[in-house]
Amino acid sequence: MEDVAGCIACDLTSGRAQLPGGLIHRTTHWRVEHCVGPLGVGTLVVKPSRHVVHVAALTDGEADELGPLLRRTSSVITRLAPSSQVYVCLWSHGPVHIHFVLQPVSEDLMSRLGAHGPALQVAMFSSEPGPDPVAVAHFADAARLEFVDA
Ligand SMILES: [Zn+2]
Repeated sequence: MEDVAGCIACDLTSGRAQLPGGLIHRTTHWRVEHCVGPLGVGTLVVKPSRHVVHVAALTDGEADELGPLLRRTSSVITRLAPSSQVYVCLWSHGPVHIHFVLQPVSEDLMSRLGAHGPALQVAMFSSEPGPDPVAVAHFADAARLEFVDA
């Protein structure tokens, strides 16, 4: 399966759903986008271009690109978003189109929500609004430039 209508990841890739900030970066097999969920400005998603629902189902080519791309994306976020750590998570379940979430986490954020790790993300999903689309667009523009040099 290359493209599955009704899969939000495929819908964002195909343009059936609007992607805030637009495509930030792509490799042969992967795409980098801004996260649409309430995990803050600067949280990026790394997902395969084709519909894949298990890491075990990645091709050799997809797997070969994954490590370097996660490192590169984390490096871009580190340069653009103040944080004490960039979380790299894969919680895709359902199963749904796998997507790694790379989230800059600051001491201020952890202090404000009184949580870290998965509990921080649960707190954000239950209390935070979705990211401001204007701020997302600005971050995406800056990230596109960073990927040129990263
Ligand atoms: Zn999909």
